[in-house]
Amino acid sequence: MVATQTKNELLDAALSYARRGWRVFPVHTLLPSGACSCAKPECAPGGKKEKSIGKHPRTAHGLNDATTDERTIRQWWAQWPDANIGIGTGAESGLIVVDIDGDCELPDCLRDLPRTITAQTARGKHLYLAYPDGAKIGNRTKIAGVPIDLRGQGGYVIGPPSLHASGIRYDWLVEPWDCELAEPSAELIAWLTEPKAHANGKAHVTGKP
Ligand SMILES: [Zn+2]
Repeated sequence: MVATQTKNELLDAALSYARRGWRVFPVHTLLPSGACSCAKPECAPGGKKEKSIGKHPRTAHGLNDATTDERTIRQWWAQWPDANIGIGTGAESGLIVVDIDGDCELPDCLRDLPRTITAQTARGKHLYLAYPDGAKIGNRTKIAGVPIDLRGQGGYVIGPPSLHASGIRYDWLVEPWDCELAEPSAELIAWLTEPKAHANGKAHVTGKP
């Protein structure tokens, strides 16, 4: 019998992101049982690491393994066909992502943003933006005390059509093949990166997605 190649949407998506220059790597996923594919007891509903279900890397060096190399990507998804897709953010991918979790009051600099590549997440959305030349943009959570996170250098996001721990698949609201990355305004970069702009001082640094 000739082996037939089954279509793997996760692989196809990972390859299409790599062709855009976004570095990708395989991430654990949600199993039908509700547990994480890592099978660690703490990475399960009610466990200490419940929030990492389907969100942490499958390879030894995680984000440092992220690549645009087609052969490597094909090998990974041959080994783990259901792996979620990690997309490395930062200068090398030319990407920052603003993670808006749920409904919250957006600052003007985000409301005024031109149309850009946008993913639907379980509770909110990911705005994909061009990494500004020469800037140093890292990772932050709860910017200005609102549920808005930033992924830049040393960070990653989970890309569509990965499976979220809630059972919902990440999906594109504005597809990458249908839109350019918007350039963040100087005002938006300042809002995302300037700790002093946030009087309540709740923003803190983390690399976690
Ligand atoms: Zn896990």
